[in-house]
Amino acid sequence: MAAVPMSAGHMLALIRSGQARTRRELQSVTGLARTTVLQRLDLLLEAGWVRERGVTTSTGGRPPTRLEFDEGHAVVLAADLETTHARAAVLDLAGRPLAEHTGALAVSDGPVAVLDTLAKWFGMLVERAGRPMGDVCGAGLSVPGPVEFETGRVVRPPIMAGWDGYDIAAHLRGELGAPGLPVLVDNDANMMALGEHAAGYPESPAFVLVKVSTGIGAGVIVDGRVYRGIDGGAGDIGHVRISGADDALCQCGSYGCLAAVASGRAIARALTGMGLPTSSGSGVRERLQADQPEAVRLAREAGQRVGEVLATVVSLLNPEVLMVTGDLAGTPFVAGVRELLYQRALPRITRNLRVVTGELGDRAGLCGIGHLVVEHLYAPAQVDARLEEGAA
Ligand SMILES: [Zn+2]
Repeated sequence: MAAVPMSAGHMLALIRSGQARTRRELQSVTGLARTTVLQRLDLLLEAGWVRERGVTTSTGGRPPTRLEFDEGHAVVLAADLETTHARAAVLDLAGRPLAEHTGALAVSDGPVAVLDTLAKWFGMLVERAGRPMGDVCGAGLSVPGPVEFETGRVVRPPIMAGWDGYDIAAHLRGELGAPGLPVLVDNDANMMALGEHAAGYPESPAFVLVKVSTGIGAGVIVDGRVYRGIDGGAGDIGHVRISGADDALCQCGSYGCLAAVASGRAIARALTGMGLPTSSGSGVRERLQADQPEAVRLAREAGQRVGEVLATVVSLLNPEVLMVTGDLAGTPFVAGVRELLYQRALPRITRNLRVVTGELGDRAGLCGIGHLVVEHLYAPAQVDARLEEGAA
């Protein structure tokens, strides 16, 4: 549903972005009559989404009241599901955690067990945050698999057995006892990209994040929004088949995938074969932190393999920022990425490219999914629809 031009929803967007901080500024930016501005603003004030505070200037006479988005008027539930553990939080509308919990949770246990546990965590966290369940305006879940965003369903996941097509939103709503609650689901690399972009590079028009932990995935942010592609498959570079690796069996069942030779899982297997037992991406991270020579060499080679694929990615997208993050994203791996990237992509493409590492660490996905939910709920069209619902 499209919002009416300069509706209450648009006015809220102007207030949130700081483009309009007073009634007078709202009037001049929107070009609407004063009475119309006041009417629409009243809706936002009554809903508690905007609050009045302090003064902006004092040039004699009555100073104008400053309008602000009230970031505390509601909360969102956010969870970042990894393969063997999860992080869940209650966030305010600025993305600040009010209560947070991390614990063991295996996606391989299937959607029912995992979502039941998550719902319990959410209930506990809402209580710990001191907020009633009625303050929860939305929820989001980041998952380690491909997602059809419109329906919030995981689609043919290589590692999430039992989740294919499962109605995650309906299950969570049921367990939380919140029938109408908006629940968004997205892929972990997308959400890490969104979180890192919002926190560190909000002005960057083209941003690519590559996560290399146990598996490999990428997220693409164009003009501040996740670019998902037609089937939610954009950025799924882990299963691109590369040359010279025909006998490397991948977790997805195919041979020769990038992830079969250059992921944390692949390096862990290689190290184990050398008599250095390592179980996953985080195990490889520990060996890299200890400067274990075999791990360093394998990480650099893996970086080169990934860099070769990324040369194509940056040639296609010409991003300003390429962020490398995840368990493997230390100096040897990133050096390997740079080496092949600058060797294989045209100088014109890499001239203004910044290759950086992640800043939010393990919290990137949680920040991203929280951001996604808030931006969804407070987009102009959603605001107008929610105000109308509230008035009905
Ligand atoms: Zn594969």
